[in-house]
Amino acid sequence: MKRMLRRAMWFAPLLIVLIALGCKDDPASPSIPQTEKGAWARYTPFDWTHDGRPHESTYFTIYSDAASDEMKRQLGEIADERFVRILRLFDFDDVSEFVYPPGYSKMEIYINRHHAESINWAYWGGFIFTIRSPDISGRRYESAVYIVRHESTHVFEFLIEGRESLGTDVWFKEGIATHVGCLESTALRTIRSLSELESWISQNRNIPGEGNPIRIHQHADFPDGADRHEYYRLFELVVRYILDDKGMGNSYQDVVRLFYDLRDGLSFSASFENHFGIGVSDLEDEVFDRLRAYLSTNAVPVRATD
Ligand SMILES: [Zn+2]
Repeated sequence: MKRMLRRAMWFAPLLIVLIALGCKDDPASPSIPQTEKGAWARYTPFDWTHDGRPHESTYFTIYSDAASDEMKRQLGEIADERFVRILRLFDFDDVSEFVYPPGYSKMEIYINRHHAESINWAYWGGFIFTIRSPDISGRRYESAVYIVRHESTHVFEFLIEGRESLGTDVWFKEGIATHVGCLESTALRTIRSLSELESWISQNRNIPGEGNPIRIHQHADFPDGADRHEYYRLFELVVRYILDDKGMGNSYQDVVRLFYDLRDGLSFSASFENHFGIGVSDLEDEVFDRLRAYLSTNAVPVRATD
């Protein structure tokens, strides 16, 4: 009897170790292997998996490699609010008109926390949003609003055109997305003065393309070593001029009509001329003179308190 008790006492710690190991192997508790992918794996070069815990907002499913549930929820809220504003801006209320990629019926956002590529990238049905910090606060919030508005504008265009790559020229699609981003956020500074435009023109005088934004039809058209960030500011200025009542006075509905033409197979240049009253090549020839005149009369005066 005494021997049996001693044997049991010897087994007790071993039993505790076995129970502890058993808990570790419980299939319900370990992290889920990252094997699932969304439309980004098909329509971008980034064949990324996600953590298996997407968050559903009204308009988006938010995926990530490692964002917290709180960040997914917060970005979903930011994106829902901005998407509604974009629909209102374009006076577009029939979302049943959207053409999603085969097999999809909702937009996606992929929050990139740890993949090496620092990109914000729109594709047919969604966009990738990169953030290196664990939360979206302060200046990061301002920047998130800009990125969400910029990329959601691309997604809006994708869902109307209903195809894998957009039919608009680079200067136009980046111009409208940057413009819509800047309407609510100050994360990117827009060109407001004639002197800023003149300095761009003189800096680019001897560079291929002479800094003319309308010559950037495709990404391959950017001159070697071009500062794309500066080009995007020029694209924004052109689109602002096209839409402003003090510029060419076209409307956001004209932009939607152009997207529909592209869905129907028309070329960008034919549709642009139909809806905006000037050919793309004429605009290219006249763009700097037109922007000079626009900024001369609409330059935002510097406030005394600035
Ligand atoms: Zn863009």
